[in-house]
Amino acid sequence: MGLFEGKKGLIFGVANKYSIAWGIAKVLHEEGAELGFSYAGPVLEKRVRPLAESVGAKFIEECDVTKDEDIERTFAKAKEVYGTIDFLVHAIAFARREDLDGLYVDTSREGFHVAMDISVYSLVALTRAAVPLMPNGGSIVTLTYYGSEKVAPHYNVMGVAKAALEASVRYLAHDLGPKKIRVNAISAGPIKTLSASGVMGFRRMYKYFPKVAPLRDHVTQEDVGRAAAWLLSDWARMVTGEVIYVDAGYNILGLTVPFDEME
Ligand code: NAP
Repeated sequence: MGLFEGKKGLIFGVANKYSIAWGIAKVLHEEGAELGFSYAGPVLEKRVRPLAESVGAKFIEECDVTKDEDIERTFAKAKEVYGTIDFLVHAIAFARREDLDGLYVDTSREGFHVAMDISVYSLVALTRAAVPLMPNGGSIVTLTYYGSEKVAPHYNVMGVAKAALEASVRYLAHDLGPKKIRVNAISAGPIKTLSASGVMGFRRMYKYFPKVAPLRDHVTQEDVGRAAAWLLSDWARMVTGEVIYVDAGYNILGLTVPFDEME
């Protein structure tokens, strides 16, 4: 019997088969979860629908998280289909390309708002909408990156958004703890996805990563999926408000000198 037998939940942020959200979905499905999916816009439907159908999803809804009416409609539909849910995965982020290039000091007011709205406020809005569907408690997981704590060149406004996302995780965990709803973040190492390809210099950083990370390897979507499954399951029932690193140990380093240059 799987860890998620009899459990239901919603996954936001599958764009294609390389998405971290899809890595999480595959693990949850293997463990017996019933999954519903939401995707950003009509362009994505042709990629997301076949993936969602391959894991037997009966809920596949469009939801642009910048629109309150989309969020309202999506959760009303989820209530109709599922009644209650046990978990929610938030794997959504966006910043304008010009803000992931150049200097942070040049971030425009509009670019700052867009990144904060889609990458941070969406967690607050989705969590608020999910609460009535979690009368017996639940677990929510979002995705963050180390650029929230330390400067990662070109991550710029997204690093600032991730810092706000991690702070939001703590405030949401505090608000919802009495309802037995847990909120946590996974800070993942670099993974080749559509979003990652928008960050200038990502390829070089990706190549360099296993030369310095203590576990000497790349992190995969499935690695994040397994950690997310733990956080979303009852095995993590006393864990909330945390940022858990799934980064081959990269965050513990004070100096990132390639190991072959040290030997
Ligand atoms: P991805 O496959 O491109 O997923 C990002 C998702 O966010 C896409 O489905 C995207 O849809 C969605 N999104 C953007 N704007 C939206 C909106 N207005 N409404 C609804 N959805 C919207 O990339 P990913 O790397 O798996 O990203 C998932 C999460 O992991 C993000 O929070 C990212 O910051 C985080 N993360 C990634 C890495 C990495 O190295 N890849 C590392 C650490 C953390 P569209 O394609 O339509 O925009």
